Amino acid sequence: MEVTDERLISPAAEAGDYDSEFTLRPKTLDEYVGQDKIKSNLKVYLEAARRRSEPLDHLLLYGPPGLGKTTLACIVAHEMGVQIRITSGPAIEKPGDLAALLTNLQEGDILFIDEIHRLSRQVEEVLYPALEDYALDIMIGKGPSAQSIRINLPRFTLIGATTRAGQLSSPLRDRFGVLLKLELYSPDELAGIIRRSAGLLGVACQPDGALALAQCSRGTPRVANRLLKRVRDFAEVIGGGVVDADTARQALRRMGIDELGLDDLDRSLLRAIIELYAGGPVGLETLAAALGEEAVTLEDVCEPYLMQMGLLTRTPRGRCVTDAAYRQLGLTPPARTDQPAGVVQQTLEDFE
Ligand code: ADP
Repeated sequence: MEVTDERLISPAAEAGDYDSEFTLRPKTLDEYVGQDKIKSNLKVYLEAARRRSEPLDHLLLYGPPGLGKTTLACIVAHEMGVQIRITSGPAIEKPGDLAALLTNLQEGDILFIDEIHRLSRQVEEVLYPALEDYALDIMIGKGPSAQSIRINLPRFTLIGATTRAGQLSSPLRDRFGVLLKLELYSPDELAGIIRRSAGLLGVACQPDGALALAQCSRGTPRVANRLLKRVRDFAEVIGGGVVDADTARQALRRMGIDELGLDDLDRSLLRAIIELYAGGPVGLETLAAALGEEAVTLEDVCEPYLMQMGLLTRTPRGRCVTDAAYRQLGLTPPARTDQPAGVVQQTLEDFE
């Protein structure tokens, strides 16, 4: 089933998102909704760095896609009054690419590397002295006459973002002074984000409409903004231009999104575990092959939310559905006594 590219509720950024993400991105920490723990700590770090007139310590942001890591990096740059250069792990192919980026930075600038877990080993090696000593070690020549020369760099801050902190090599992880973990947002927080975005986009959105959308947004601001834009189309055609709870629910139903925010791919995943593997356990690769999907899509896009909602668990032997998953699909759970406990806890720890 190939629905991923078209998924309305995929938290990954898609082509149509970029323009509007630029408009909708909060510019200051106060405009940034939710993540209160991160914000209050960050305020202290920012204030301390400003008082010492020093760049902020290197920062690692981790959590599922679409939760606001890039946004937060831009806010940090804005709050510190410095420039930010945005790149990503796969875009830095050779050590020379990273050297070019680093030597173009100004004192205090921020280098933001998204998907930092995808940096190659050779590129990482160049990054270590840059992070620790603000220096680049360059080899000149080959063989016995080869010489290493050191180039000093301006003092900069690296902000790394990753969906998979566990895949970061430990030497790289150890060089970050601050590690911040972003959590999925509550429906109330998402409703706040939707109302703010509606204001910026000039969409008439009632509070109950915002909440109805928020409840289907998988804890993810990017999904919330995307749903708002699609539901606005329905509202204009069938709802007199206003997004209220009724139009939101009708539109979501027509887009195949249920009241928990699950779409066809989520439901196919749960149904496959139930119908083909008797509720699990089943390995991720087997499941991906059965669904004709990439394992990484299931792991990064579907699973965090399904686990958060207590519909899926990960065990050492594979994925299992919970009784709630049977009920969500209108099925009767099998009689059993060993229903796994502590689902939410397991979700977030496993995700790292
Ligand atoms: P990530 O880098 O984690 O994939 P982004 O920073 O690109 O996510 O965020 C995706 C979109 O969600 C942004 O365009 C922004 O409008 C919105 N967004 C993310 N976090 C927040 C927040 N805390 N408050 C308001 N909007 C947010």
